[in-house]
Amino acid sequence: MDTHDGAATPRDVTTTAQMQGYLVPMSALPTAPTLLDLSPTVAASRLAEWVVEAGLPGYRTRQLLPRLWQRPVGAWSEASDIPAELRERLQQIWPLSRLELATMQTSADGTRKYLWRLQDGELIESVLIPSGARRTLCISSQAGCALGCVFCATGTMGFRRNLSPFEIAGQVRELVLRDPSDKPTNIVFMGMGEPLLNWPAVDTALTILNSPEGLGIGARHITVSTVGIIPGMEKLAARPEQFRLAISLHSPDEERRLPLMPIEKKYHLKQVLEAAKAFSKRITFEYVLIAGKNDTNRDADDLARLARRMGALVNLLPLHPGGAPGLTPTTPHRIREFADRLKTQGIEAVVRRSRGLDISAACGQLRVEVEARKGKHREPSAP
Ligand code: SAH
Ligand code: SF4
Repeated sequence: MDTHDGAATPRDVTTTAQMQGYLVPMSALPTAPTLLDLSPTVAASRLAEWVVEAGLPGYRTRQLLPRLWQRPVGAWSEASDIPAELRERLQQIWPLSRLELATMQTSADGTRKYLWRLQDGELIESVLIPSGARRTLCISSQAGCALGCVFCATGTMGFRRNLSPFEIAGQVRELVLRDPSDKPTNIVFMGMGEPLLNWPAVDTALTILNSPEGLGIGARHITVSTVGIIPGMEKLAARPEQFRLAISLHSPDEERRLPLMPIEKKYHLKQVLEAAKAFSKRITFEYVLIAGKNDTNRDADDLARLARRMGALVNLLPLHPGGAPGLTPTTPHRIREFADRLKTQGIEAVVRRSRGLDISAACGQLRVEVEARKGKHREPSAP
């Protein structure tokens, strides 16, 4: 039974309808799957079959496979250890997909934001955040997002389409191709889109990111962020690798959460937290602080209770104003008070610095900005 109708925001109407058809099968993707859309094990067997059919020696498979992810090449023509004639055949039969760099911005604090153009013209974002020896890449899983959280720039553009496994893991591959020393140490699915509404592709992309024949990034260094798509959380929890889970909470109370996040109507917070118990590793709560919406003492105390019950770490994020016309960020002073209130209740809370404030670095903002310049973006509805 739905008890929240009265509190629905104008955006609920479209987003709820869009949410019905979210699990798009891979066959519906606009580009034909390539070797880079397959898990490395499956890619290896496809290549091995082809090597036999093509009358090539078996060792060629072992020579070609690392060129997909481990020591990637932008095109087969760059693989100088392979005979020229074979490179040409590979280019015909197994062309290597690329993401075209549309724009890159570098912030004064070292944060780098990439806007990639996909084959069908869609634009997606990744953000590289260096911090000491750690390089965290924030990647996108969908073009746009159907869920319409009122503070989020991606939410204002609506759902465009799911990304393929290559389009997800390829965001890392492109960085490595440009400069191997930029290879991220950590991955967070906190770019555009809701990863658990694109499970088949995210499932394969996780394998590519993690497997030693893929990008070899440890599962504990890969975090999937979700608003709480319960069927997807169950699938993620069932994987043996122990990827990390972040829940975009943004309010500790179902009634106060709904006007910020329409998904609350479909998956209630209480059930989302129940589903999160299937994760053995410590989970994180993401909490964007918005003045007057979720930053009262009552919010802090309710949040502390939930975090204690779940053993969760709390990430407090200053609202990036560019993603949320009409909403005001909580002041830095109030953010500190809020964090201290959590800490005095024994909660591990971290205030994340707002990185890349000068380069539209919150989720979805660069695409919105670029399209606004071209006059393509539709006006966001009022929050
Ligand atoms: N859809 C998933 C993953 C992508 S959004 C999810 O919501 O968890 C990833 C993060 O970007 C979320 O935690 C969200 O809170 C944050 N975000 C979106 N808009 C923001 C803004 N205007 N300021 C700060 N963080 C924002
Ligand atoms: Fe979608 Fe996440 Fe943005 Fe909400 S915060 S609109 S779920 S991308």
